[in-house]
Amino acid sequence: MSQQYKGNIPLTLSEYDTLTQLLSRLLSTKYPPVIIPGEAILGIEAVAAGISAPSRTIVNVVTGPYGSLFGQWLERGGATVIEVKVPFDEVVPVEKVAAAIEKYQPSALSFVQAEVVTGGSNPAEEIIKIARAHNLITVSDSVSAIGGEPLLVDEWGVDFVAVGAQKALAGPNGISAVSISPRGWEFLESNAHAPRNSILSLLDLKPSGEGTAPVRVPPNIPTLEARALILALTAIESEGLEQVIKRHEQAALSAIAGIQVLGLEPWQKDNRTYSTLTTTVRIAGEEKLHIDQPIGIVAPGDGELFGQLLRINHFGGNASLAGVEEAVATIAALLNQDHEQAVEAVRLVWGE
Ligand SMILES: *Cc1c(COP(=O)(O)O)cnc(C)c1O
Repeated sequence: MSQQYKGNIPLTLSEYDTLTQLLSRLLSTKYPPVIIPGEAILGIEAVAAGISAPSRTIVNVVTGPYGSLFGQWLERGGATVIEVKVPFDEVVPVEKVAAAIEKYQPSALSFVQAEVVTGGSNPAEEIIKIARAHNLITVSDSVSAIGGEPLLVDEWGVDFVAVGAQKALAGPNGISAVSISPRGWEFLESNAHAPRNSILSLLDLKPSGEGTAPVRVPPNIPTLEARALILALTAIESEGLEQVIKRHEQAALSAIAGIQVLGLEPWQKDNRTYSTLTTTVRIAGEEKLHIDQPIGIVAPGDGELFGQLLRINHFGGNASLAGVEEAVATIAALLNQDHEQAVEAVRLVWGE
């Protein structure tokens, strides 16, 4: 931010246009995303409310707590929800998604791209491909994935994408976005049950079409957060999205190398499905790893995963060599182990 407090000066059309274009480039879409005046969870709930209807069958993939919550919101809207669930130390196999689509003939499919809580990442591109082959509307909760993993909205043809800035993008948590394809807008518009005149109404936030400049700034956009998001996304562009993603990949690989030297294992069972946002560490009865409060970026498991894993939150500004080194040293200290070798392994894998 500049030195001056500008929260009382309304967002200009040009700032709004800049923000929309930054978001479009981030997501590789030519369609202007909807800017959500709140935390990412609001956009996700709005998508669920907007697509759910008693006449619709929706396959909802559950690989962590956010997927469960999405399913509950779909059910509230009256849809028949087919839950495809796996244990939280796995991600969903594409074959399982394909089998559910064949069996239930849904009109839409929803999933979470990267699970910060479980440390797993679903095979997003393959899931979307199979869903598109069956002409389904696709919904991806990419709140944490964006900036940590590739996501090509138009090329992959994903219809709804929830985006947050507070994870890999190191941005504010008071504003977020939902990218919606033309097919997605039709799916909302053809739903008599989609909210109107409500904080959950995406239809009321529909931006002007592709290529046309916005005519006014939606009055509900939080000004300070919008300006903070412009700064965060500008920083991402100047580092380069590919480099930001690579930094997250390095963080995950080096964190895993470090914990393995300490004699620990990742919580995720399959080494091809680790998320780049968090590394989750299996506690496996190791009493010394039971913590109640986060220590730096080392945090206890959430909800039902409390006591089963530790999370290393190496995303955003903490997707750095120093961030991972400190986290691995913290875990070594919990185990009363010397951290030298583990930290050395972190550096080696990071490439220094
Ligand atoms: C962080 C996150 C959200 C948003 O949750 P907040 O409570 O807004 O932080 C939603 N989905 C996923 C997959 C997330 O990682």
